[in-house]
Amino acid sequence: MLPEFRYYPDPLGTGAFHQGAPRRCQCCGRETEIWYAYPFYTAGDEPDCICPDCIASGAAAEKLDGDFHSEYVGSVSDPARIEEWMKRTPGICTIQDTPWYAHCDDFCAFVGYAAWEDLEETGIADEIAETYDSEVSGFSLADLKEGMRRGCCIQGYLFRCLHCGRHFLTADVD
Ligand SMILES: [Zn+2]
Ligand SMILES: [Zn+2]
Repeated sequence: MLPEFRYYPDPLGTGAFHQGAPRRCQCCGRETEIWYAYPFYTAGDEPDCICPDCIASGAAAEKLDGDFHSEYVGSVSDPARIEEWMKRTPGICTIQDTPWYAHCDDFCAFVGYAAWEDLEETGIADEIAETYDSEVSGFSLADLKEGMRRGCCIQGYLFRCLHCGRHFLTADVD
């Protein structure tokens, strides 16, 4: 059973966790068939296998002395929420160090990597057109519609606010 990550509801489906022949967790030393590798921000060696339990408990961040995240957009006032996000939530593989989203004084949940077609198919393209902040990513909405296509160029990162339910998007490019 995977532990629950409030800010990262589907780490297996979105590829934060890998699944395969058992490996040894570099934090607890137990064998695990599901593991996390990166991103992990540390001054020491980057781990290549952390088990989900060691992320959820905060043991990996403490023992391997690092954070799973760097920056976010918006503001969060509760230090406990910041700690949960930084130390106990898997990170996302962005191309540039593209920020996570915060809204309603809390971190949003990462829904997944998104192309514009995904937004259209799930019916949230119009909502993103409203909430999208071009200052954050540096792309205009027109850039996204044209360049954030499957198999092409701009990568989108989709978030959903845990409180008001609105969707937000950041994006970057190689
Ligand atoms: Zn472990
Ligand atoms: Zn909100």
